Amino acid sequence: MDRFQLYIDGTFEDGAARFPSLDPATGTAWADMPEAREAEVDRAVTAAHRAFTSGAWPKLTASQRGKLLLKLADLVQENAADLARLETRDTGKIIRETSAQIAYVAEYYRYYAGLADKIEGAHLPIDKPDMEVWLRREPVGVVAAIVPWNSQLFLSAVKLGPALAAGCTVVLKASEDGPAPLLHFARLVHQAGFPAGVVNIITGFGPACGHILTTHPKVAHIAFTGGPATARAVVRNSAENLASTSLELGGKSPFIVFDDADLDSAANAQVSGIFAATGQSCVAGSRLLVQDTVKDAFLSRLKTKAEAIRIAAPDDMATEVGPLCTARQRDHITATIAASIAKGARVVTGGQPVEGPGFYFPPTILDCSTAPDAPALSDEFFGPVLAVTTFGTEAEALARANDTAYGLASGVFTKSLTRAHRMIRGIRAGVVWVNTYRAVSPIAPFGGHGLSGHGREGGLAAALDYTTTKTVWLRTSDDPIPDPFVMR
Ligand code: NDP
Repeated sequence: MDRFQLYIDGTFEDGAARFPSLDPATGTAWADMPEAREAEVDRAVTAAHRAFTSGAWPKLTASQRGKLLLKLADLVQENAADLARLETRDTGKIIRETSAQIAYVAEYYRYYAGLADKIEGAHLPIDKPDMEVWLRREPVGVVAAIVPWNSQLFLSAVKLGPALAAGCTVVLKASEDGPAPLLHFARLVHQAGFPAGVVNIITGFGPACGHILTTHPKVAHIAFTGGPATARAVVRNSAENLASTSLELGGKSPFIVFDDADLDSAANAQVSGIFAATGQSCVAGSRLLVQDTVKDAFLSRLKTKAEAIRIAAPDDMATEVGPLCTARQRDHITATIAASIAKGARVVTGGQPVEGPGFYFPPTILDCSTAPDAPALSDEFFGPVLAVTTFGTEAEALARANDTAYGLASGVFTKSLTRAHRMIRGIRAGVVWVNTYRAVSPIAPFGGHGLSGHGREGGLAAALDYTTTKTVWLRTSDDPIPDPFVMR
C-alpha cells in the first residue's frame, strides 16, 4: 500500500496511529494514512506559532512571501498530473476534472503571490494638528484551515494562498476521507522552501484532531469548509480561543429556467451544475426551478442527457460520473431519496445505487413539483440528485429561489436582460450565474449567506480576512505633553 506522512515543523512523520484509506471505485484499502491526535496537533500549532513570531518568516518582505508562493504555484503546475492521480484514487473524483482543476489551482497561488505586496495599510487624515496616524495591515496569526474531502487541493488553495500572502502561518487539516493529495502536496510546500512551521499539513478524525485544532489557544483564525453541523461545532470551539472564523458551508442552490431561455444550453449547464463531480459540489445547482410552460420540454432534454452519462472508473478520461467518495455518502443519498418519495416525489431517472463494488450512484432526477415537503427540496444531498419544482411567474420563481436556509450559489437562465437584472437583485446568494453555471476564478470572491456560512474566499477581500489593523499614533510636536488628565 502507498504510505503517507504528516508534515509538522518542516519534517515528515508517521503520526500517533495509522489508518487505511479506501479506494471509492472498489471499496478496498489502497493507502496507509497517518493520524494526528492531540500531541501532533499541539506540536503543529506550536510550530506555526513559533514560525509566526520568530525565525525567518516574519522577517521576509511581502514581495519575498510572494516569490515563495510563485514557486509553490510552479511546483503545483509541474506536479499537477501526480496530484490529480492521487485525488482521483483517494476520493473517486474523476480524472477528467481533477486534471483540469489542479492545473487551475496553480493560478490561485499565482494570484495571491501577486497580491502579497499589494495588501496596503492607510494613512488617516486625523483631526489633530500634531499627530500622524496610520494603519498597518498585519497578519492575524496562526490559521487553522480545515477542508472536506471533495476538492481538497482547491479548497486549501483558497485558504493557504491568502493566508500566506498576508504573512500568517497555517495548520491545514485534510479530511480523513481522501487526504492523499494534500499529504503529497506537503512535499511541494517543503520543496518550495517555506521556513519550517509556516505550513503544517495534518489529517485525523474530527473529534480527536479537528476539535483540538479549533480550540487551541494559539490559533487566531479558523478557515473552515464543510457542513453546517460541523461548522456549529467549530464556532462553539472558537469560544475557547476567541478565534475569528470564516465558514464555507453547503448549499441548496436554485437553478432557475425561464421559458425564454435557450433550453439546450440551460440543460448542459444543469448537467454541469448537478452531475459534474458526481454532485459532490457545494455549489451544485440541486434545486431546478423550471417555468411550468417549458417543464416537459426541459425535463425530457435533461432525462436524455442524464441517461447518456458515462458512469465508470474515475481514472478513465472518458468517465463523466465516478463513484461517491464514501459508502456513508451513498447511504445518506439513498435514504433522502426514499424519504422524498414517501412525501410524493417521483423518480424521473436513477434513484438507486449502482450494484457491485465501489460507491457508485447514477444521475438522478426527482420531480418534486407536487411534493413541496420532500426533503430533496430542502436538504443537501451532496450527490448527483436533482430535485425539480416549477413556477408560473417571475415573482414566484424568486420566492421559491429564496425559500431556503442556505444562500451559496444560484443560476438564472433567460434571454431577457431586464428580468436577469431583477433576479440578480432579488436572489439572496453569494454567487449568481446568469446563462452559465459553475464558473470560478481566483479573482472573483466566493461564499454564502445563512447556513452557507460567512466570509469570502478568492479575490482581495479574502486576503484582508487574514489580516488585522494596527493603528499607529505618532506625535509630531516637541512641546511637552499638556494636561495629562484630559484625553487628547
Ligand atoms: P464535514 O463538515 O463533515 O467535515 C469537514 C471537515 O471538518 C473535515 O476535515 C472534518 O474532519 C472536520 N471536522 C469534523 N469534526 C470536526 C470538529 N469537531 N472540529 C473541527 N473539525 C472537524 O463535511 P463533509 O466532509 O461532509 O463535506 C461536505 C460538506 O462540505 C458539504 O456540506 C458541502 O456543501 C461543504 N462544502 C462547502 C464548500 C464551500 O466552499 N462552500 C466547498 C466544498 C464542500 P473529519 O474528516 O475527520 O471528520
